Amino acid sequence: MPQHPSAAPFDTDVLIIGAGPSGLALARALADASIRSIVLDAQDAATLADPAPDGRDIALTHRAAVLMRRLGLWERLPAAEVAPLRAAEVYNGRDPQPLHFDPQGSGEDELGWLVSNHVIRRASWEAVQGREAITLRPGTRVLGLAIEADAATLRCRAADGSEATLRAPLLVAADSRFSEARRQAGIGAQMRDFGRSVIVCRMAHSEPNRAVAQECFHIGHTLAVLPMNGGESSMVVTVSSDQALAMQQWDDARFTAWVQQQLGERLGTLTLRGKRHLYPLVAVYAQRFVAPRFALIGDAAVGMHPVTAHGYNFGLYGVDVLAGLLASAQRAGRDLGSLAVLQPYETIHKRETWPIFHGTNAIVGLFTDDRGAARLVRQAVVRVAEHLPPLKRAITQRLTRSDATPWPPLPPLPPLPAVLTSLWRG
Ligand SMILES: Cc1cc2nc3c(=O)[nH]c(=O)nc-3n(C[C@H](O)[C@H](O)[C@H](O)COP(=O)(O)OP(=O)(O)OC[C@H]3O[C@@H](n4cnc5c(N)ncnc54)[C@H](O)[C@@H]3O)c2cc1C
Repeated sequence: MPQHPSAAPFDTDVLIIGAGPSGLALARALADASIRSIVLDAQDAATLADPAPDGRDIALTHRAAVLMRRLGLWERLPAAEVAPLRAAEVYNGRDPQPLHFDPQGSGEDELGWLVSNHVIRRASWEAVQGREAITLRPGTRVLGLAIEADAATLRCRAADGSEATLRAPLLVAADSRFSEARRQAGIGAQMRDFGRSVIVCRMAHSEPNRAVAQECFHIGHTLAVLPMNGGESSMVVTVSSDQALAMQQWDDARFTAWVQQQLGERLGTLTLRGKRHLYPLVAVYAQRFVAPRFALIGDAAVGMHPVTAHGYNFGLYGVDVLAGLLASAQRAGRDLGSLAVLQPYETIHKRETWPIFHGTNAIVGLFTDDRGAARLVRQAVVRVAEHLPPLKRAITQRLTRSDATPWPPLPPLPPLPAVLTSLWRG
């Protein structure tokens, strides 16, 4: 590693702040390329090794599954915890005719899979154990960081109160969408607070879920049903944040009855399993993903609204690109922290994430706007999309492709009469 002769030695090749799914995936990918890293996290080792359920059930794309296999994560997921996603249906209000997606024609049996976030976190932690190239520093708080011409430096305090200063050619922040490291590195972010929150929980039901996800857009709220194994589904209720706080005060019976009323008999009788968890919805897009000796990954780079289920998937795609660039740079004896090495990561990851970030926010805006005109437009969107096979195929391909091929070209829009007929039928 090139280093000024008078400079203090490097402690590692890459410092990673955050031992969440993104930070650990990067550490593992770098170790596979013989690049050393130190991973710091504020949480203690016991919590990182065996995280409590947090209510999030993560929809994984085919490409994410390929990357998880490569990183030794997939084989660590217990089979019973991996639920196939065979189809998805989008309902607009009480309209019984959904927009339907399935993998037909893609050569795959599933659109993707659903795995609980704490199960992914546990597998990610396991996958970095016993690797000489990885040093884990749980229970460690970051006190400050400095990006200098020849090194990135980080001051931190361990759980026992001892302080240390660590130096490396590159510092990577994987410390969540509200990344403190991003702010300290002087990188701004575009933030969109939707004024809404999701309540997530598991429910058992007397009728099978057929491995079909449902997304139901109602006036004032949306309800997503994610099919899990064992006769259970994950319920994702999105309401205004003040209403979410009020609903969290409801007892379990009242909350279950409310969800039951929304779903009718679609899943039979519902029974709440475990706790309800609340997440305020704030989407975040960093202004830059890289700077000299600094990079952002995972939610710290792109914090998605969960409706299109892309956050962790994007995190893995970014890790794949960044780790590939760093591995090539290492082989060529280049400086891992130089902007020339890091810049392509930003270019590629922006190209991947920017359209979906804004597309997702636009969909959320449309489907949560309850004014008459917006309701009419979304009815048209559901109807037209249902009768536009090329568009549905493009979306399905997006989920089932297992490599980094770019978006297929958008299909031509249907002629206006078809849109009007579709509206008329609605
Ligand atoms: C309700 C919900 C549903 C979702 N559904 C999906 C889905 O279906 N599909 C999908 O792909 N994604 C989904 N996501 C998104 C997914 O959960 C996130 O994208 C993913 O967890 C981000 O991982 P991360 O490692 O980047 O960040 P995080 O999981 O936030 O981890 C950050 C880590 O950094 C540590 N940390 C933070 N600050 C510091 C500090 N100063 N010092 C040391 N450590 C620090 C934290 O302790 C934590 O361990 C969903 C999210 C939510 C909320």
